[in-house]
Amino acid sequence: MGSQAIREWAGINTFAPATQTKLLELLGKLKQENVNTLTILVMGKGGVGKSSIVNSIIGERVVAISPFQSEGPRPVMVSRSRAGFTLNVIDTPGLIEGGYINNMALDIIKSFLLNKTIDVLLYVDRLDVYRVDNLDKLVAKAITDSFGKGIWSKALIALTHAQFSPPDGLPYDEFFSKRSEALLKVIRSGARLKKDDSQDSTIPVVLVENSARCNKNESDEKVLPNGTAWISWLVQTITEVALNRSESIHVDKKLIDGPNPNQSGKLWIPLIFALQYFFVMKPIEGFIKNDIANESRPSWETFE
Ligand code: GDP
Ligand code: MG
Repeated sequence: MGSQAIREWAGINTFAPATQTKLLELLGKLKQENVNTLTILVMGKGGVGKSSIVNSIIGERVVAISPFQSEGPRPVMVSRSRAGFTLNVIDTPGLIEGGYINNMALDIIKSFLLNKTIDVLLYVDRLDVYRVDNLDKLVAKAITDSFGKGIWSKALIALTHAQFSPPDGLPYDEFFSKRSEALLKVIRSGARLKKDDSQDSTIPVVLVENSARCNKNESDEKVLPNGTAWISWLVQTITEVALNRSESIHVDKKLIDGPNPNQSGKLWIPLIFALQYFFVMKPIEGFIKNDIANESRPSWETFE
C-alpha cells in the first residue's frame, strides 16, 4: 500500500495505563504470529456508532460523527502504526436509506475495497434496542452478497450505547445475551448461514460505550455497567478473530463482480438473434414475398 509514511498510533497514549499495557500485549501477540498489518472493516446501519467506534479504537477524533445520519458517501481508511505494526480501520457510510439497501453506497464501498484485504469485519449496532428488524437482515444479506459468506468467519459484532439500564429491572447480562441472540439470529438468516456452516454461531459479540461520559474503574479504564473494561475486551476479540483459522478476505475484481454476471448474460445474445432471425424475420420475409407475388395488379394499373 504505497510508500506513504503512516502516522504513529499516538492515540494509544490517551488510554488508561492498564488499557495501554493490554493493547501493547495484544499487538505483541499479533506480531508473534507474523501479523504485522491488520485491516478492520466497520459496517452497519447509519447512526449506530460506526464512526464513533473508529475514533474510540484509534484514540483520536479522526472521522466525523453526527447524530443526524448525514454521513459522507465515501468510506475513509485511517492508518496508524506502532512498533512496526500497522492498523487500518475503514469507516463506511450506513447501508440503509429509506428502508432499503443503498446500492450506490454499497458499490462505492466495494470499489474502495478493491485490492484490499479485510482481516476483520466489525459489524456495529446498538445495544439499547428491543427489537430486531428486517433492515438488519438486509444489511447482513448485502454483506454476504458483496464479499461472500466467508466474511462472517472474520466478523465480530459490537453493540454500542452499552452504558444503559435494561427495562423492567432485567439484569444487564441477561439483556445483553437476549439482544445478542436476537441480532445473531437475523444476521445469520440474512447472511444465509446455515446451521452446519462453520461461520455459524461463532460470531463473537462485544459491548462498547463511545460516550465521553463512560464510567471508569479505579485504574481509570472505561468500564461497562457490569465492570468490564471494554476497550481491552474489544481489541482482544479483534485479535482473536484476526488469528482464527479462517482466511482473511481479499477483495478482488472477481469477488466484487460475482460469478461472471456479464458473461452468462452475453452468451445468450447471439442465440436470441438467431432465434429472432429464424422465427420472426424469416416468416415475415416469406409473408411479404408471398404477398407481393399474390398481389393482383392494382386497378389503376389496368386502367388506361
Ligand atoms: P454512524 O452513523 O454509525 O457512523 O454513527 P456515529 O458514530 O456518527 O454516531 C451517531 C450518534 O450516536 C452520535 O451522536 C454519537 O455521538 C452517538 N453515539 C455513538 N456511539 C455511542 C455510544 O456508544 N454511546 C452514546 N451515548 N452515544 C453514542
Ligand atoms: Mg459514520
